[in-house]
Amino acid sequence: MPDELDCIFCQIVGGQAPATFLYEDEKVVVFMDVNPATDGHCLVVSREHAPTIFELPEGTLESVAGVSKKVAHALREALTPDGLNLIQANGPAAFQTVDHFHVHLVPRWAGDPIKLPWIPSPGDPDRIAEVAQKVRDQLPD
Ligand code: 5GP
Ligand code: ZN
Repeated sequence: MPDELDCIFCQIVGGQAPATFLYEDEKVVVFMDVNPATDGHCLVVSREHAPTIFELPEGTLESVAGVSKKVAHALREALTPDGLNLIQANGPAAFQTVDHFHVHLVPRWAGDPIKLPWIPSPGDPDRIAEVAQKVRDQLPD
């Protein structure tokens, strides 16, 4: 079975499964998360099925980013949060549970119960520099 037929977000995009929509255009749809972390938690989703950032067609990330900004402003006007997180997961190791590219917009309020998934602590500068060099070597000129 193609991944798309088994994909809940493709079913929502195609109208075969219900969702509370905020916005749609030719490349992107936005609907409310059914398990909201906070009031206003919504998902900016590529219309086309692509599991992660690595399979996204050229230009789709830019479209998702543009819509994310538009909806972020609407969330701020509507809900006056103290802050807003954009969260995007690729792969189970990164907490992805739905294999269709999406960005979470999570309005935040001071004192809300959401926590960072790690506790920041200073890294080894040599290791940071070594890893940075490895990544720079893979970047196109
Ligand atoms: P991920 O863990 O992949 O970054 O996030 C997937 C998100 O999709 C979760 O926050 C989850 O609550 C949401 N979700 C899963 N199934 C459905 C659904 O059927 N409808 C809606 N609206 N959201 C869903
Ligand atoms: Zn899909």
